[in-house]
Amino acid sequence: MSVSKLEIKEGVPLSGHTTIGVGGRARFFFSCGSVEHLRTGLLFAKEKGLRAHILGGGSNTIIADAGFDGVVLKIDLQGVRMHEEGAWLFLSAAAGEKWDELVKTCVERDAAGIECLSGIPGTVGATPIQNVGAYGQEVSETIVSLRLMDRDSLEMLEMDGRDCEFRYRQSRFKSREKDRYIITEVTYRLRRHASPEVEYPELARHLALASDLGKLEGGRASLKAVREGVIALRRKKSMVIDPSDPNSRSVGSFFLNPVLTDEELRPFQERCRKSGEKGPVSTFRMESGTKIPAAWLVEHAGFSKGYVKGGAGISTNHALAIVNCGGTAKEILALAEEIEKGVYNRFGIRLEREPVIVG
Ligand SMILES: Cc1cc2nc3c(=O)[nH]c(=O)nc-3n(C[C@H](O)[C@H](O)[C@H](O)COP(=O)(O)OP(=O)(O)OC[C@H]3O[C@@H](n4cnc5c(N)ncnc54)[C@H](O)[C@@H]3O)c2cc1C
Repeated sequence: MSVSKLEIKEGVPLSGHTTIGVGGRARFFFSCGSVEHLRTGLLFAKEKGLRAHILGGGSNTIIADAGFDGVVLKIDLQGVRMHEEGAWLFLSAAAGEKWDELVKTCVERDAAGIECLSGIPGTVGATPIQNVGAYGQEVSETIVSLRLMDRDSLEMLEMDGRDCEFRYRQSRFKSREKDRYIITEVTYRLRRHASPEVEYPELARHLALASDLGKLEGGRASLKAVREGVIALRRKKSMVIDPSDPNSRSVGSFFLNPVLTDEELRPFQERCRKSGEKGPVSTFRMESGTKIPAAWLVEHAGFSKGYVKGGAGISTNHALAIVNCGGTAKEILALAEEIEKGVYNRFGIRLEREPVIVG
């Protein structure tokens, strides 16, 4: 396909393509509705000697104020295929499909496995990148395969979900093979007519309190009740995108929950004890160590919800969400740095950022 058949835009403002709403312009911008569009866009970037950036829904992306002096390829591939095999529903969704629409479809079809991931913004193609997770579920539990384009050879390949090296908010696409592939389609395997397994205590409590017992099937919450419960909990924390909620002008959680090895955990506990802290009430034991709630670290380092510095602030509903209060990317990142320093000075822990910074 020649470039002329693909609409190239120049100097496109990118802030409106992200949920946090900051940042400058893209030198070139392509909306890619097919694999051929992606190839053309990558070749165009190569010919011009420019970098290419892959943009999904922009819900985990911060664009620099100076913008991106390269080619933005916006993933607009659409289409969902489904087939049933015994107890399973296999669902292959193009990378540009909206994630939450897919979750809604699955819940409506009574297929279990991703209902706790309701209300998360962004696209299907981005879900494997950081192994999207919430309320006790991660996409790694249901992804069986991916279709990808190698950005160098421009060839298409298939990858088994088990080869994606999924971990807590991690995959090979975010670590050793960062920027190597473009994901064009993801296949999920869901359980048909199965009851949801609710493991996350906050969600289980919420559902147990659900006064509308019609929402319960055989004493267990229905998929629909789980989806509604998750969205209700997320809404209270401004973790669903809502134009009328200024706290949702964010990238969701800005920092990952640190996972400490036993060697790291001891000095942390000692530090807490010496400074009179009781330590986080809810830590979580994982194979790789102990997960410490980053929100607790942030608040106990002195950054309370609602703290504002210039045009950036901490959500009044969630200590981990940095919110755009009419500011710039520079102000957002300056606040992130201030928090990181504060947490390090108090607890000796270096917070890791979740969003991708572009430009
Ligand atoms: C209010 C709010 C709540 C959130 N809650 C959660 C949550 O509970 N759990 C969670 O895990 N995340 C959460 N997030 C973060 C975010 O929604 C997810 O990470 C989401 O998967 C990002 O999707 P996106 O399409 O917007 O990705 P983008 O921000 O556009 O891109 C993110 C990264 O993925 C890459 N990428 C995107 N698409 C592709 C592709 N097709 N192929 C290759 N690379 C690609 C980009 O280059 C970039 O590096 C939240 C964000 C917000 C704003």
